[in-house]
Amino acid sequence: MIDCIYQTNLFKELALTDKHHAYLLYSQDRIKNNEIALAFAKKILCETNSGCGECNACKQFVSRSHPDLFILEQDAIKVDDVKILIEKLSTKPIQASKKVFVILNAETINEIAQNKLLKSLEEPNESAVFILTTTKTDKLLPTVLSRLNKIFVPNLSKEDEDIIANELNNNGINISSYIHKGFTLTEMINFASDGEYLNCLNEIKNIFSSLNSTADIPNVVSSLNITNKPLFFSILQELLLSALKNDGKFDDDVLQPIKTKFSAKAIMKCLPLIDDAYKKLMSNVNFGYILDNLLFNMLKERFLCK
Ligand SMILES: [Zn+2]
Repeated sequence: MIDCIYQTNLFKELALTDKHHAYLLYSQDRIKNNEIALAFAKKILCETNSGCGECNACKQFVSRSHPDLFILEQDAIKVDDVKILIEKLSTKPIQASKKVFVILNAETINEIAQNKLLKSLEEPNESAVFILTTTKTDKLLPTVLSRLNKIFVPNLSKEDEDIIANELNNNGINISSYIHKGFTLTEMINFASDGEYLNCLNEIKNIFSSLNSTADIPNVVSSLNITNKPLFFSILQELLLSALKNDGKFDDDVLQPIKTKFSAKAIMKCLPLIDDAYKKLMSNVNFGYILDNLLFNMLKERFLCK
């Protein structure tokens, strides 16, 4: 993925150069932020400063064995992780002209660790570059934020999406059918690679195909096989929104059973019901019970908003 991001216009537009010592790449798309950060790191370390993919440094980058590359990507970054980073910062680069410190998903750095990191960010080091990414800039301390050169990563163009879809297709992940339908890169990848995502979609299709009256509810609910229940509700909501907006985000064979049974007005009334269902799930109410209720109320709205 790094190489294909590198080919995109987006990466070229950002024109990332190592003249600053600390960067923050941010947008709502975690995967894209991280891919761009890594492509940037690769470019800095490359022997021809181009991220050629051919040189020794690029090969070391791919195998994560470059001696001047340090990547933090834990779920929770603690002060000990930052201490290791600072130790590495005190030595000279071994092979490249700069050491590159990449911190992916910087919102996971706890406050103590951020304060520790701040000291390194405050004293620019000629031979080091920091590249941080985040989807949540508000989780970073204002003092840390002020030391970073902040770069907003804009949405991918259609052309760029094609490049990435091609690359993923080459890797056996088929996202071509979801491209240009308004999904974010992360959603497309989930869609294509997460079996549970497709399973939820399929189950929702089954629900609406067999749901005609309240008498069908017990059978519909008992035949469902859902592992990721929060995902189920979020896909259900996405589907109803898509049916309402007619945005072509989902295939017709999934939307048709919903559209034939529910008027646009009924769908609008159903959307807050799904919100409620999700909230109940988060407060540990039984899934079967929630779904039973939800479907009953949805059928009621269908009847009221014919
Ligand atoms: Zn190279």
